[in-house]
Amino acid sequence: MLDLLIVGSGPAGLSAAVYAKRANLNVLILERVYCGTGQIAESSQVDNYLGFIGINGYELGEKFRLHAVNLGAEFKPGEAVSFEAVEKGWKVQCSNGDMIEAKAVIYAAGAVHRHLGVPGEEEFAGKGVSYCATCDGAFFRNKNTAVIGGGNTAMDDALYLSEICSKVYLIHRRDMFRGSAKTLEKIRQKENIEVVTPAQIAKIEGEDRVCSVELDNGRVLQVDGVFVAVGMIPQTDKIKDIVNLDDMKYVIADETGKTSAQGFFVAGDVRTKPLRQVVTAVSDGANAAAAAVEYLNHE
Ligand SMILES: Cc1cc2nc3c(=O)[nH]c(=O)nc-3n(C[C@H](O)[C@H](O)[C@H](O)COP(=O)(O)OP(=O)(O)OC[C@H]3O[C@@H](n4cnc5c(N)ncnc54)[C@H](O)[C@@H]3O)c2cc1C
Repeated sequence: MLDLLIVGSGPAGLSAAVYAKRANLNVLILERVYCGTGQIAESSQVDNYLGFIGINGYELGEKFRLHAVNLGAEFKPGEAVSFEAVEKGWKVQCSNGDMIEAKAVIYAAGAVHRHLGVPGEEEFAGKGVSYCATCDGAFFRNKNTAVIGGGNTAMDDALYLSEICSKVYLIHRRDMFRGSAKTLEKIRQKENIEVVTPAQIAKIEGEDRVCSVELDNGRVLQVDGVFVAVGMIPQTDKIKDIVNLDDMKYVIADETGKTSAQGFFVAGDVRTKPLRQVVTAVSDGANAAAAAVEYLNHE
């Protein structure tokens, strides 16, 4: 039986692997995407991870992976599909039929951004279409941008971008926003934010990069960036029956990663927390590995 199974080789899983290997645990990392390093591989430029100014996301992920490999971490391609608590740990069923047994699990399966599903969205992803204002906002200094969504994230993104961009359109399909009334008040006081409701994006257009969006009422807005903030889907469907989730389906856990299930830890974007970024995922991985080591020492 393994000491520790880590599910997911994104920044959280790889950081957990580094800490677990340094604590001499017998560790395996299960990853459903061959040689995947999580969401960050999709980013063409990461400008906010300390010490790596402007690094390409794929390159950063590879550095994380090589670090774990150098410490002797072992990887197995495959997707975990179900988890069962057994007497001295966990039995994990993989999609290819393999079964893995481990005394403890760190589940670091991340989250994926919900997409709009409109023409131009996939074509211009990373070329003006972004799912993260904190990550990419600074690339749109003194430019026009649109934020799509009606919740707190969209509203916070609009305020954040209004400090960087010349003009921000906040586009929501309903008249009423779901986010906080206080934030909406601040938005209304900002001269460079225009609230556009009720409206939906019909298409995103450009040549090499985004240059405009067309709304369902026919209006065309000239923008260089489109920030989609219509929610995230935490990858927790496979564990919804074994750990407690909040109403957004994130696993309820503090920074130690301890969940409601014994010996089952979480790290990174899957857990309840205010900021989902590489730096917090890496920190979570370290904390969850330390908590797993402590748990195994007292078993
Ligand atoms: C386009 C884009 C740009 C971004 N830019 C930045 C940025 O500039 N700065 C920043 O700090 N953050 C950025 N982020 C956010 C950052 O990438 C995430 O916060 C971070 O990757 C979360 O790490 P994680 O390890 O928790 O999850 P993830 O990176 O999502 O990794 C989870 C891994 O688990 C695997 N997995 C999922 N389910 C299973 C399963 N059942 N079995 C096996 N494997 C499984 C997935 O394939 C994936 O590899 C960006 C995200 C995106 C999408």
